[in-house]
Amino acid sequence: MTEDIPARGHSVDYPAPVYCYRRRFTTEVPFGQIALGGYQPIRVESMTNTHTMDTVATVEQCRRLYEAGCEIIRLTVPTEKDADNLRHIRDQLRRDGIETPLVADIHFSARAAMKAVEFVDNIRINPGNYATGSKFTTEAYTEAQYCAELEKVRLEFTPLVIKARELGVSMRIGTNHGSLSDRIVSRYGNSPEGMVEAALEFARLCEDEGYYDLLFSMKSSNVRVMIHAYRLLVAKADAELRHAYPLHLGVTEAGDGDEGRIKSAMGIGALLEDGLGDTIRVSLTEDPVNEVPVGFAIVRKYNDRLLVRGDAPHLPVKQVIEHGLKEPAHTMLPFEPFSYSRRASVRIVGAGLQVGGDALPRVETAAHTPATDPDSLREEIIIRLDPDKPEEVIRSEMVSVCAGSAEDIALLAGLLDSLAGLREKIVVSTADTSIVSDLLALCGRVRLDIVEGESLGTGFIESLEERYGALELCFIHENSSENVPAEVLVRLASRLKTNGFDRVMLSIISAQPLYPVRRLVLEMKKAGLDYPVVVRYRQRRVERASLLIDCAVQTGTLFCDGIGDILALETGMPVSDEIALAYNILQAARIRMSKTEFISCPGCGRTYFELEKTTAAIKARVSHLKGLKIGIMGCIVNGPGEMADADFGYVGSGKGRISLYVGKECVEENMPEESALERLINLIRQNGKWVDPL
Ligand code: SF4
Repeated sequence: MTEDIPARGHSVDYPAPVYCYRRRFTTEVPFGQIALGGYQPIRVESMTNTHTMDTVATVEQCRRLYEAGCEIIRLTVPTEKDADNLRHIRDQLRRDGIETPLVADIHFSARAAMKAVEFVDNIRINPGNYATGSKFTTEAYTEAQYCAELEKVRLEFTPLVIKARELGVSMRIGTNHGSLSDRIVSRYGNSPEGMVEAALEFARLCEDEGYYDLLFSMKSSNVRVMIHAYRLLVAKADAELRHAYPLHLGVTEAGDGDEGRIKSAMGIGALLEDGLGDTIRVSLTEDPVNEVPVGFAIVRKYNDRLLVRGDAPHLPVKQVIEHGLKEPAHTMLPFEPFSYSRRASVRIVGAGLQVGGDALPRVETAAHTPATDPDSLREEIIIRLDPDKPEEVIRSEMVSVCAGSAEDIALLAGLLDSLAGLREKIVVSTADTSIVSDLLALCGRVRLDIVEGESLGTGFIESLEERYGALELCFIHENSSENVPAEVLVRLASRLKTNGFDRVMLSIISAQPLYPVRRLVLEMKKAGLDYPVVVRYRQRRVERASLLIDCAVQTGTLFCDGIGDILALETGMPVSDEIALAYNILQAARIRMSKTEFISCPGCGRTYFELEKTTAAIKARVSHLKGLKIGIMGCIVNGPGEMADADFGYVGSGKGRISLYVGKECVEENMPEESALERLINLIRQNGKWVDPL
């Protein structure tokens, strides 16, 4: 690491407002018929997966993307010939009345870039492999070698910059965690710091030529790495560069199905909530047309709040520093913005499980049946807790039920007796302070719902004594995402602490818990309270696709930032869907692995095998291997870095040819595709990671 790179603890400030929404204000960058950044809406991009030499197929896929509403279409350009063919694709599309801006996606080839820039509205270059390529070695670079390679980059890259400037074509400097240059890795490691520096090296060269039509991306399949890299980029680039440039957001190799959507929503949404991002792409291992509605579902909420001229946007950090406008809240953040660190909390027993400290975050769901119908309630609890299934099966680990009044206590007592060993997993919620003591004697945890400020009677807190269950203080805050009186909860919790009541958790119930929970954690930090935090999400009125996205953004962002000891959902979804959603969120945040993690790329014109079919075949054989990470890449472009993150890799290396990886080491090169899956399974066996399916 060099001295100007912030070490853990980080000397750079994070300039985003983290307790309310304010979009970062950037320069406006031309993009064909549209523009990006500034006051423009957040645009949705997708990418073709046809061969760019196949004009008919590519035009047809572009047309389908256009009809789906896609606002920017990217095409892969592996060679100069592909670049030349862009002219035919573009001309046909324009003849068909499709004016959607086109982006040329370049890896390695400066010659392809120099040709492609003539036919597109934007050119994406990968600073990890432009001009110098990468041997994926870990050799150390001397200062002289580092400078010499940078000079080579300058010589090769500058002509493209000059040509793009002359043609009025904008450029995305698109860093991928999976394909950093050897030069960068040798100095910064495969890290967010390296990703940021890789982009800045190229941006400096652009500014040296007076070229400012830039945007950045910092993609990774690891949601946390991706979030940290974008945040660090904003902090460093806005401080150093001449302008605040727009951002293109995306989680790469997100996979397919619900998992792919949740992972993408979490990474992209976490940054949008911080006010960052001007265009997005949801990368799914599916038909690219499927990416478009997911993209719009993610950005809709933010575009609805589109900046109106005259609003106070989020200022570039440079101006913040120059004008002394630094927001006081940033002097103490409730999380580390540039690296993962789980919030320190005391480990306590709540609802029969260890909660807080370094215990795995737990999953809780809410029973819908009222206490007045104990037989049906018992049935529902059993379905949710699923106690007879093997350990590996995901289930709700705690279930909350409602106790409205003193009359419910007798019914609940009978119910809890009949549930025998499950008593500890029952959380009883009530807003009636007069029954809290009795409930604490009955169940694993009592959730006291606080609706209006400090409406609890005088002396109530002081009268409470430790009994069987833990106590959760929960502020009901359903209708607003901001201005939660976190101080109220913190004051009550402080009084409990003074009173010697140790087994306490805090929470806020909201459909938008992100900002209020951040505020709560900040207030807890200031008050020196280390009680566990329950991340609660209650939203029952939204249709499934939007709910997956919204829940992933609102709760997943908190877990990615190390906040949360229990994830508690009340969504109105079918029980199995709700439980799967909770575990998918925890898995995407990489804090609780409950199944195999697939890092599969979306495919593009470089893909060497049938990605969707092969991914399905691999999933069918290894999906039971809990916690194992398997990379499935259509080609090697993003392979090595992502392989460092995966346990095993299946990578296209030529037509009908596959290379297999164990970690980042290629152990089988160019083997026939027909035998590659069996060989992958053998490798998993040989490495002691195989278990037979149930
Ligand atoms: S890793 Fe997949 S999406 Fe990326 S360039 Fe290769 S084939 Fe295309």
